[in-house]
Amino acid sequence: MLWLLGSLFFCALIVRELVGAGRADRPDPVYPPYLILLATLAAACAWPAVSMWRFERFLAEKAMVLTDGKPASVHCNSVLDTMFDRNLLAAGHANPETGEIVFQTPWCDVLRDYLDDPASAGDRQIVSLNLFTHEAIHIRGELNEAVTECQAVQYNHRAARLLGVPDALAKAHALRYYRTLYASRGQVGGYGGMYFSDRCGPGLDMDLRLPDSTWAE
Ligand SMILES: [Zn+2]
Repeated sequence: MLWLLGSLFFCALIVRELVGAGRADRPDPVYPPYLILLATLAAACAWPAVSMWRFERFLAEKAMVLTDGKPASVHCNSVLDTMFDRNLLAAGHANPETGEIVFQTPWCDVLRDYLDDPASAGDRQIVSLNLFTHEAIHIRGELNEAVTECQAVQYNHRAARLLGVPDALAKAHALRYYRTLYASRGQVGGYGGMYFSDRCGPGLDMDLRLPDSTWAE
């Protein structure tokens, strides 16, 4: 938001320069290098917001594949947005009625880092992949956290490929989430334990038997 205000400020200076040049009380002509400098600064300030907007559109488009076409939109919260978000403590949240998925700061940046360089992914980057899948599953209409998380575990392989991660890495990261990060949720109990079920695994009650499931052989 602050960057956009900066961009608007430089745009206003451009307008002032162009309008002012036509006035009789200002004999100086427009100075092109100054206008180019202002335009460059305006574009540079606008770029972070434009880039995030494009990333949100990209994520929404991929989320809609996971929701089987059910409309979805994605918003990446800024620090300010996060501070005023009622679900401040959750890394993300989704509303199946409106299709809106929200990621708190800095999870969009973490996910973008992951997609820029999946070969170097650490646990945090893999968690950001699961967060994306988890919220997309909510948009399908599933609200139970343990069921949603178990479905996300199974869809993570597909989700990573949809986001452009090479297949071998997508499979390895999805399995890593299932075998270590998801499994650890069962041990912590409390809030984290809400997302775990011992009925989640190959051949168990929550197995969706997807052909490209994370745990498919
Ligand atoms: Zn959830």
